[in-house]
Amino acid sequence: MASRVCGYCGVHAHFTPAGETSVVHDEETEGAIIYVQAAFSCAACKLLSLGSTDIFAGSSEWAYELVAGEEVKYWSAIGVESWLPDNGGPKIANLPATVQKASEEAFKSFKAGQHMAAILMARTTIEATAKAHGIDKGTLASKIKKMHDQHLILVSTKTAADAIRDFGNDMAHGDLDVAVAWSDARDCVQLMELILREVFELPHLASQLEARAAKRKAQSVPAEQ
Ligand SMILES: [Zn+2]
Repeated sequence: MASRVCGYCGVHAHFTPAGETSVVHDEETEGAIIYVQAAFSCAACKLLSLGSTDIFAGSSEWAYELVAGEEVKYWSAIGVESWLPDNGGPKIANLPATVQKASEEAFKSFKAGQHMAAILMARTTIEATAKAHGIDKGTLASKIKKMHDQHLILVSTKTAADAIRDFGNDMAHGDLDVAVAWSDARDCVQLMELILREVFELPHLASQLEARAAKRKAQSVPAEQ
């Protein structure tokens, strides 16, 4: 089931649907979009968050049907797109759990004014990003280089990743007397977000678009001679 950093207690916990799932058909588009919502209970603090997902006609999620009593199965199939309350970070699709956890810590630390922690967690997030692609040996610099060699990141993104690494380097090795400005932490967290979007979100969105285009092509009637 869905697992995320809770907007109430801040713990990375499992969320289970509690009660009914509401399905509302959009009137303006004559039902081409359905809005699915449910309350979810946090395994750590038991408080309820609202999970929502918009499903578009023609998407792979469109085919799933909500069966009474099988809400968990339904939500596992369609996934949760947005949460209330959220946990302060931007929504980035398709993140592995470890990467999501590390990046949410970076966003949360930055929001709380903990600049050193934000930079360190941005650095850890890049390590976790490399590890998610089987790159788990060597220094952070060599991991970033390998990610670029494997075409996971562009040259411009590699430069960004190197910048975060340089920032976090001193702190990761115990040099805690370096001065860290708010803008340093902001730059690191922003660069981290760019990297995550490029490595995880863009390929995911591209493959969804591709699948939809292929489906449309297969469904279109060939023109008559
Ligand atoms: Zn909680």
